[in-house]
Amino acid sequence: MLHIGCHESSSKGYVAMWKEALQLDANTFAFFTRNPRGGTAKPIDSDDVTTFCSLAKEHNFAKIVAHAPYTMNPCAAKPELRDFALNTMLDDLSRLEYTPGNYYNFHPGSHVGQGVDIGIDLTAEMLSSVIKRCEKLSTVILIETMAGKGSEIGRTFEEIRMIIDKTEEKCGTSLSDKLGVCLDTCHVWDGGYDIVNDLDGVLTHFDNIIGLERLKAVHLNDSMNLLDSHKDRHAKIGEGQIGLEALVKIINHAKLKNLPFILETPNEHEGYKKEIALLRSKFIDC
Ligand code: FE
Ligand code: FE
Ligand code: ZN
Repeated sequence: MLHIGCHESSSKGYVAMWKEALQLDANTFAFFTRNPRGGTAKPIDSDDVTTFCSLAKEHNFAKIVAHAPYTMNPCAAKPELRDFALNTMLDDLSRLEYTPGNYYNFHPGSHVGQGVDIGIDLTAEMLSSVIKRCEKLSTVILIETMAGKGSEIGRTFEEIRMIIDKTEEKCGTSLSDKLGVCLDTCHVWDGGYDIVNDLDGVLTHFDNIIGLERLKAVHLNDSMNLLDSHKDRHAKIGEGQIGLEALVKIINHAKLKNLPFILETPNEHEGYKKEIALLRSKFIDC
């Protein structure tokens, strides 16, 4: 069974997101934990989360993938911006424990001229503080692969590996059950990984550098731009430079097909419904 969904608005709570997903024939979804500007998040409604957890179980939903606000920058130069990222992540993770065992993905940040090494160190510093303070964390934190726009870190698999290594070093323990990766197809393509002509090669490289067991979710997007453009502009499925054929190979790849796939394509309700139907029709169940 293909696990696929898209971003839902969290403004009306979990049951509302679940209902919306169901209407789209989705069996997972993503949502921003708070508005991207980072204001305070809505208080958790305990009836809402309890109902959602039983509905998701009953309807065989896959794990859901909460998305941190993309404006937070864990490797910012200004300490107050790094504190904001740390506090936001701590607050998000404490709230996500009401729906235990799911995923939380975040952008590793932009080094803003400090250099990649300092960027990696600062992001690992934030992650390690978060993990040390959340002893009973059941949510797995996912580092998203980035396009390399501006001074973004996490474009290469090597950089992601370094973030993981440094975080584990600072925590003094393996974090294989706490820290994973979310692969964004638009971002890796824009970042220079040829998932159209050499998907197997890219996945082998991912496995050698990071380890495929760390890969927990996929953001399934087409891209408006060419390979290695470092741009990050998502296109609708089949309307970009990656194209339908390559995206269909991705959802059917033996190493990927059981993961949750999240669409972040420029669509409204009807567009997502069509993309989900299209991808379901191309999925080979076995
Ligand atoms: Fe993202
Ligand atoms: Fe993404
Ligand atoms: Zn993007």
